Amino acid sequence: MTSQNPVFIPGPTNIPDALRKACDMATLDHRSPAFRAIFEPAVAGVRKVLGMEEGEVVIFPATGTGGWEASIANTLSRGDTVLAARHGMFSHRWIDLCQRHGLNVRVIETPWGEGAPVAAFEEALKADTGHEIKAVLATHNETATGVRSDIKGVRGAIDAAGHPALFMVDGVSSIGSMPFEMSAWGIDLAVTGSQKGFMLPAGLSIVGISPKALAKMEDARLARCFFDFRDMLNSYKTGGYPFTPAVGLLNGLAVSVDMLLSEGLDNVYARHARIAEGVRRAVAAWGMKPCAARPALYSETVTAVVVPEGFNGTDVVTQAAKVYEVAFGVGLGEVAGKVFRIGHLGSLTEVMALSGLATAEMAMADLGYPIKLGSGVAAAQEYYREKGEVAALAAE
Ligand SMILES: *Cc1c(COP(=O)(O)O)cnc(C)c1O
Repeated sequence: MTSQNPVFIPGPTNIPDALRKACDMATLDHRSPAFRAIFEPAVAGVRKVLGMEEGEVVIFPATGTGGWEASIANTLSRGDTVLAARHGMFSHRWIDLCQRHGLNVRVIETPWGEGAPVAAFEEALKADTGHEIKAVLATHNETATGVRSDIKGVRGAIDAAGHPALFMVDGVSSIGSMPFEMSAWGIDLAVTGSQKGFMLPAGLSIVGISPKALAKMEDARLARCFFDFRDMLNSYKTGGYPFTPAVGLLNGLAVSVDMLLSEGLDNVYARHARIAEGVRRAVAAWGMKPCAARPALYSETVTAVVVPEGFNGTDVVTQAAKVYEVAFGVGLGEVAGKVFRIGHLGSLTEVMALSGLATAEMAMADLGYPIKLGSGVAAAQEYYREKGEVAALAAE
């Protein structure tokens, strides 16, 4: 496959040249001040991207999945009850991980295409007068369906119930691309990775930890060693790691946060919103719909396009890869075959997005879809020409 075309998978995302260069470096001693000079600015930048006013950040050589595991292992004990909704492949995988660790997961089955069920969470938390539920899990952006959940709303549900449970949020495909306010939204554990909004290769698991979650570390009884926050935080005090850090990736991260902060987080979010709205206008021009049930749920980082009856969305992805050498995302789990996904996060411009839309049109036309070549591209072009117009989203 050519490396000239951008990818339109919802992670890993396109890597800007500056970040590829930053990751490619000679070996340095990770116990020397040279490492500290890389690591400290990276962490300081991550805190800003996460919207952290307090607490700690830990960065493991791992992926987002490792962040899920680290979050529960450092704060919970075998047999603890957690509350979660299953409404896509990623929320499902986190539930599965909790179950394999021996947690009792109270699962609220939610239609795929819907977001975290705020009212059902509130009801479950109010009914839990004995405070058996130790944590509430929410997936900010369900990458499988292109659904953004109302994280502030879930916090409101926890508060309305006066419930002391920890609030854990998967922000892997939203952090660095969509507004995220760890402290303001009362999030206790925020999980992400390097390969989505941070535009880097996979390999870093990034976890924001609130003071309330830090206070649980000593009592938590789930087995942990590699992912023990305490070892990590102790080593940080001397500028180091309890094991060998992924130095090149961390150097990339320092440059990545610099890029995001120099563009300005609000501008980064507005760019994602603008690109996403153009993609949705293209989808509408094709006579199709996003999998997300309502505009308030539309993700700014990925659109899962529901294909017409009689078509298999996976074929679009296969055709685009085989003939045009462009990568889109297949449907996963319950929506396998029913959708194909256009990732529009990370290092992306309107012009790049137009090339993806044009490619999707060619692939669909090849497969006999009832679409007119150029229709989606034209709809997106019209929108992108009105520079600066940010999608009118329903109030959060
Ligand atoms: C990509 C992703 C993950 C983590 O995947 P890894 O491959 O382990 O990095 C978790 N949650 C969401 C919502 C994601 O998009």
